[in-house]
Amino acid sequence: MKKAIGIDLGGTYIKYGLVDVEGNILKKGILPTNAEKGSRDIVIEQMSCAIKDAWDENIEGIGIGTPGVVDNNGIVFESPNLPGWHNFNVKEVFEKKFGKKVVVENDANSIVWGEYLFGAGKGTRTIICLTLGTGLGGGVVINGKLLRGAIYSAAELGHMVVDYRGRKCGCGSVGCIEAYVGRDYIVKSAIRKIRKGEKTVLSKMVKDLTEITPKMISDAYQKGDKLAEKVWIEMATALGAFLAGLVNMLNPDRIILAGGIAQAGEILFSTVRKTIAERAMKVLAKTVEVVPAGLGNDAGIISGAALIFQK
Ligand SMILES: [Zn+2]
Repeated sequence: MKKAIGIDLGGTYIKYGLVDVEGNILKKGILPTNAEKGSRDIVIEQMSCAIKDAWDENIEGIGIGTPGVVDNNGIVFESPNLPGWHNFNVKEVFEKKFGKKVVVENDANSIVWGEYLFGAGKGTRTIICLTLGTGLGGGVVINGKLLRGAIYSAAELGHMVVDYRGRKCGCGSVGCIEAYVGRDYIVKSAIRKIRKGEKTVLSKMVKDLTEITPKMISDAYQKGDKLAEKVWIEMATALGAFLAGLVNMLNPDRIILAGGIAQAGEILFSTVRKTIAERAMKVLAKTVEVVPAGLGNDAGIISGAALIFQK
């Protein structure tokens, strides 16, 4: 069976593994990136150790998901947390070193491709994948191809404007969807309601209201807390309205919701589905499914290998 090595390069850790063509991990490991030592060569050396550890003579290639903007030729233009990763041909370095095909892709795009090939997007042609966390990241596969754009920076989905007179966003713009569904904004929404005097178990769970987490809001909702329910419905309605626009534009088979905030579960998913049904064009809304991510904790490793198993 075909195999590939998948590398999930992060600013702190390198996660790696040997993966078969069906997306099963045969072997895996983790090493420190050592980026803080400030040397490009040290990071390359760590990645090489990872590849040697996962090595199998019969691999088709090595797929690398890295932070930063990456072009079609495996050149990383810029990656803020990695030393010297500036106009750096990562693909060439590892092809010379190991004599195998190497594919390099932006880490968020890599995950989208992994979900498309092996995860919740399996069997589709067009997907939107959103990662709900501190920010709102994402990517798009359209007609079986990753959407990359003119300078390989497409799909900054979190910074699409949903209210042009709305909240200030961290990116400098106004009314971006991230300013309604990002982690801190969810917490702030709960705090605002508490300060207005709404009753909730949340105020008893922390000393200081700023200690509230989305997980606590989920737990409170599970216990029947009305304020927590309102927070999730507001957040998920904003997300659903935003997605209705994307549904109209891209006509996706599936929308995949990944990341820590997606753990909010059924209240999030059902509200997003309902809002899309109400607000997108009817025939498009009927086509699309909204589902949780399929790859789990080793998504980065499986996705790295998926870059080699292009359809
Ligand atoms: Zn923004």
